Amino acid sequence: LPLDRSATVLVAGSSGLVGSAVVRRLRAQGFTSVAGIHSADVDLTDDRATLDCVTSLRPAVVIDAAARVGGIAANDAEPVEFLNDNLRIQTNLFAAAHAAGVDRLLFLGSSCIYPKHTPQPIPESALLTGALEETNDAYAIAKIAGVIAVRSYRRQYGRRWISVMPTNVYGPGDTFHPTRSHVLPALIRRFHEAVRSGAEEVVVWGTGTPRREFIHVDDLAAACTHLLDHYDDPSPVNIGVGEDLTIADLATLVADAVGFTGRITWDTSRPDGTPRKLLDVSRLLATGWRPRIGLPEGVRATVRWYADTVAGSD
Ligand code: GDP
Repeated sequence: LPLDRSATVLVAGSSGLVGSAVVRRLRAQGFTSVAGIHSADVDLTDDRATLDCVTSLRPAVVIDAAARVGGIAANDAEPVEFLNDNLRIQTNLFAAAHAAGVDRLLFLGSSCIYPKHTPQPIPESALLTGALEETNDAYAIAKIAGVIAVRSYRRQYGRRWISVMPTNVYGPGDTFHPTRSHVLPALIRRFHEAVRSGAEEVVVWGTGTPRREFIHVDDLAAACTHLLDHYDDPSPVNIGVGEDLTIADLATLVADAVGFTGRITWDTSRPDGTPRKLLDVSRLLATGWRPRIGLPEGVRATVRWYADTVAGSD
């Protein structure tokens, strides 16, 4: 099962948070032919362009980290683009990979595919057992279609393709947009700016009570390549760290990491989203993989990257 290190691996979405980490990980593991593509190279919402690209690169392995992504506000504001673009990207990429005879493919789904109210930690078997969280149901339905597509290519054509469901991902290379990004980069930016400007108060969205689990992107990338080496089954695999915390505790952790000592207040007119999202990672752990980067350490490293890269160039 382990992948041949000289095989050509195509990483779709290679400029994104996850795709760029996967490319780094593959190179570090000795893969000699890693081809990254992103939206500026190839428009994966265009079927012809996608087919031309994949058939000319002739990869043995495809990792699909290409998606339109965003935080709770972006998903809530533009459900049509989140649904259509994600369906197009994965449909085109899978069709092209199949046409090019790609035998190993890893599709990155998302933990938001699980029902809003479901037992915690969430096992893979919770998929399609209940109604979705409404702030991101369009994105979730697109990702669910991707999981079913992967399973269908396996069943109908014998392709050894797999799906993984990462929990909330963070790390260097993330989008730190003040309103469109996910909670962790949004908080890093807001607290960092407060320290810079000497503000005494930082406003955080919602009630602070929802619980979320976070995985550092380098751990996620390592889990993906580990699963390509060790896992071949129709059932998707959750990728998480097995622990969660409240948004209030997360805000305190970020405040400490950037050195903010002022007040934290809550804007309860903003949506909380799903009350809890902790993945059951027993299937992943059974393959022998373990996360390495703890949240406080990972947040400190991400704050440093943000201060040097994003804030440094403002
Ligand atoms: P979700 O995990 O799909 O709900 O996506 P997010 O990462 O966008 O939001 C996670 C939680 O963090 C929600 O309960 C938000 O209300 C809360 N949150 C608090 N402050 C912020 C913020 O500034 N930006 C975002 N995106 N979420 C925030």
